[in-house]
Amino acid sequence: MVRYKQVSDIVKIMRNVEQVRNIGTLAHVDHGKTTTSDSLLMGAGILSPKVAGQALALDYVEIEQLRQMTVKAANVSLYHEWQGKPYVINLVDTPGHVDFTGHVTRSLRMMDGGIVVVDAVEGIMTQTETVVRQALQEYVRPLLYINKVDRLIKELRLEPREIQQRFVEIVKEFNGLIELYADKEFRDKWKVDFAKGQVAFGSALHKWGLTVPLAMEKGVKFDYIIDAYIHDNKEQLAQEFPLYVALLDMVVEHVPNPREAQRYRVPKLWRGDLNSEIGKAMLECNPDGPTVVAVSKITIDPHAGHVATGRVFSGTVTEGQEVYLVNAKDGARVLQVGLYMGPYREKTEQISAGNIVAMLGLEKARAGETVVDAKYKDVIVPFEHLTYVAEPVVTIA
Ligand code: GDP
Repeated sequence: MVRYKQVSDIVKIMRNVEQVRNIGTLAHVDHGKTTTSDSLLMGAGILSPKVAGQALALDYVEIEQLRQMTVKAANVSLYHEWQGKPYVINLVDTPGHVDFTGHVTRSLRMMDGGIVVVDAVEGIMTQTETVVRQALQEYVRPLLYINKVDRLIKELRLEPREIQQRFVEIVKEFNGLIELYADKEFRDKWKVDFAKGQVAFGSALHKWGLTVPLAMEKGVKFDYIIDAYIHDNKEQLAQEFPLYVALLDMVVEHVPNPREAQRYRVPKLWRGDLNSEIGKAMLECNPDGPTVVAVSKITIDPHAGHVATGRVFSGTVTEGQEVYLVNAKDGARVLQVGLYMGPYREKTEQISAGNIVAMLGLEKARAGETVVDAKYKDVIVPFEHLTYVAEPVVTIA
């Protein structure tokens, strides 16, 4: 089912922030972050179903394009329908591993929620802890996806009861991290609950996934899934319970929309006056307010040159707009505005508050730059410096 949408459709939805979510995937190395992201891209109708999770069976998408999507793209805007309503889900690229340069944190600033991918066999590992801690430090809500469930069935040959027990243990440990690292305000609110659909489970490799509410709605029990593996019928699972549906439904329902998120995130990430015109516009994620963009990533496009990607915290970035780069202390003009759909950057006229924008023409912008409408250059306060959480360091006295 190809559900490729026109840029104009996506931009229209983007103007209504209640229908926007900004997310990324986070994981311990090898737990399946890349495979899971590919499944999401497939769900948006960008890749053919054969491609995701199976780089050898590429048909119309070349390996290089696939790599560009998951490795090089700073962001991909996905289309998803939930309860009959259209949503745009901006999938922010996060580095494939925990790094020590602040890249993860930079990506986190763009997101309001994260899908934390955990290998069902290995469980929560050190880098899982690190990414959850980093997310919470940036006030990004972590949701849980238990991946590689096929391994519990095929390799460990667990019974349904044992599989559920394994899930309960992982959820308990995950909630332990939230208890430990979340701000007081979110410690209880952000714990994940199976029954509420805040935990998904499945196999990114075989492209199926479920949440408890989805399983109940479809009347499916674990025996059915185990049976599908015994009879080598896993393609059926991917058709009946596509992973992207489970994950994107979970995201739409449980990741705050950009307006809800900015109300608590802006006071934590920005030290300016919240009662000023800019402060109020950012708290409200107001598309008609002064334009403020936090730049997360710079890429060099072989054709277009310097591309600055960032989150619009307020206002609307428009082609031809005169802006000011706060860190570079220099004015510039936005030559082109775009969004990412699959491997391509698509040109549009404007991108509004709460979304991710790609801008051409800002040669002096670096990651971490604050871009503001030129009229506000004398009053803008830049975003807080990005700090990052490293693995525990042993110091010798
Ligand atoms: P990343 O390092 O977190 O990005 O992990 P990858 O997506 O590259 O996956 C690491 C390895 O696990 C690859 O060999 C994948 O094919 C494999 N893998 C990913 N998801 C699954 C899954 O659901 N089941 C199984 N059995 N293997 C998986």
